[in-house]
Amino acid sequence: MPKPSSRISNIIPSGKDGWEVHFAAWQRKEAGEPVIMLSVGDHDFDTPVETVEACVAAVRGGHHHYTPLPGIPALRDAMARISTQCTGVETTADEVIVTPGGQAALYAAVQGVLDRGDHAIVVAPYYATYPGTFRAAEADFTVVETRAANGFQPDAAAIEKAVRKNTRAILINTPNNPTGAVYTRAALEGLADVCRRHDLWLLSDEVYWTLGGGEHVSPRALPGMAERTLVINSMSKSHGMTGWRLGWLTGPADFIALTVNLNLVTTYGLTDFVSHAAIEALNNGYGVREIAERYAGRRTVFLDAVRGMNDVTVRGSEGGMYAMLDISAIEPDDEKFAWAFLDAEKVAVMPGSSFGEAAAGHIRISLCQPEDVLREAAQRLRRFASSYR
Ligand code: PLP
Repeated sequence: MPKPSSRISNIIPSGKDGWEVHFAAWQRKEAGEPVIMLSVGDHDFDTPVETVEACVAAVRGGHHHYTPLPGIPALRDAMARISTQCTGVETTADEVIVTPGGQAALYAAVQGVLDRGDHAIVVAPYYATYPGTFRAAEADFTVVETRAANGFQPDAAAIEKAVRKNTRAILINTPNNPTGAVYTRAALEGLADVCRRHDLWLLSDEVYWTLGGGEHVSPRALPGMAERTLVINSMSKSHGMTGWRLGWLTGPADFIALTVNLNLVTTYGLTDFVSHAAIEALNNGYGVREIAERYAGRRTVFLDAVRGMNDVTVRGSEGGMYAMLDISAIEPDDEKFAWAFLDAEKVAVMPGSSFGEAAAGHIRISLCQPEDVLREAAQRLRRFASSYR
């Protein structure tokens, strides 16, 4: 075949990406071994039945056509209302654009603020697709680590040191995947200050905002930040709709108007009947409270079972769908730990180092399993920790 573009070839450089343990565990489970999968971030339950019924009604009701490029007006209204709640800033429909999932909202944000060769700063540990999203824009990026001992909170001084002449944006994620850290107001105020003084965009991935422990603070609400913050949002986690591909980007109306052209050349709008189901799900809050309560319950059950274990320390783990455990006192090489834990106890976890240096010596536990399964996994961890040589 003729040569593909270097742009597409470079999005994900070949090599190891830390998912080897997960894929091996999956194969063993498929082969019939009683493996507990705590390595992925998709719900173990289906979308709320009311949302499914709304979608069936929309299909039967003839919603089979193209939709307006920025989204059906009623859907933009509903998303703007949720953005108002999420960010604490009154948001109107012209400040949101509908995208097929939070990932596509992130893609639109990165394409919208970075030219080729521009520079961005990414706070680590971060969600695995971030580097590829910058590479797709042919942008350069610097990873600034947080510290486990500091609960993985971002440090404005360390971030400011990474600012260059061509830096245009900082990307953060709170509540965080993979650490479960919920960024504090003070940490975000420090970041906002850096953004204002260096005239930077702040890209704020808040897809887990309903699953936070404590107060969710959006940097969009901080003084002078609404004009330079782009919030990535999604129905995947909050409404139990990962496979439906529904997200949105919130930002200044003039910027959002430009991103409509991205929808023109990529998706040409969202699926009609899915949009109508989403309007119902957003306006009625289908599943939101139940899902948040379910994850809060799971987090409490799992962390209670883990706290007090010798040589295992909980870090971050305040919100989102994950818990982060420091296991370096048992085995400093987290990848070795993850393989040995899978072999000995048939529990699949993600090695922390696959999310960046700060999470080395840790394992990420996905809370996407019922409470009894999480209790059993914690028991297996206790047994493994006490017998590991
Ligand atoms: N951002 C973060 C931090 C995530 O963890 C995910 C998915 O796991 C996404 C964005 C993308 O979510 P979606 O495209 O399903 O909305």
